[in-house]
Amino acid sequence: MADVTADRGAVGVSQGLGRAVILLGPPGAGKGTQAQRIAQRYHLPHLSTGDMFRDNIQRDTELGRKAKPLMERGELVPDEIVLGMVANRIGQADCAKGFVFDGFPRTLQQADDLERICRQYKLGCTIVLHMVVNPALLMRRLTGRRICKAGGHIYNVYERPPRREGICDVDGSELIHRPDDSEGVIGERLHAYDRQTQPLVEYYKSRELLTPVDAMAVADTVTEAIARILDGAIAHK
Ligand code: AMP
Repeated sequence: MADVTADRGAVGVSQGLGRAVILLGPPGAGKGTQAQRIAQRYHLPHLSTGDMFRDNIQRDTELGRKAKPLMERGELVPDEIVLGMVANRIGQADCAKGFVFDGFPRTLQQADDLERICRQYKLGCTIVLHMVVNPALLMRRLTGRRICKAGGHIYNVYERPPRREGICDVDGSELIHRPDDSEGVIGERLHAYDRQTQPLVEYYKSRELLTPVDAMAVADTVTEAIARILDGAIAHK
């Protein structure tokens, strides 16, 4: 992958966390919900590779056309495509203070490349939050998930329903059910997680970067647990 540090110049990392925060866990673990909250709380950019692909699909870009059939089948997009997109995003000025990843890295190759990019940008140690959930809960969380079309606000018809069915509480826009949140595709996505992403748990554990988080709890409790970990990291910076 190309060296992209030049794009950003020598932006310091003294502000903010100055680190990559990774939310690692299977589809349905609550990564999106928690990443939104943490990004807001610590004034960090929220980088969701899934959202980046969905945005490219909506705009019918070449990247979107490549990703679409794979996403529809619940398969991962090839590393070189994901990494090019991520490297460009991290090269933007707002990422100098750190960022929250949701859905990246998902393979060992992506994790290795991220480590290299973080070194290039002189970011501090990556913080990996391992969202631990009972697999039985995942299907319910994913089939019940609804996402606001305008702002990406996340609901769950079983656990966190909107006040008015099908309408976002925050901005009144329509809530949609992601096509890959159907039962058939969810099975494939969970399989892809076990095969390609689960090995990252060992990868980060062996580097002593992994902190487990009980992601079975209600969203507010999970957010507070994550905030305690991040506050601790900031205090010991
Ligand atoms: P998500 O919104 O994170 O559940 O991602 C939706 C889909 O986008 C995944 O099922 C993959 O097809 C694709 N995708 C998102 N992030 C990645 C990634 N880091 N590596 C490969 N494919 C990805």
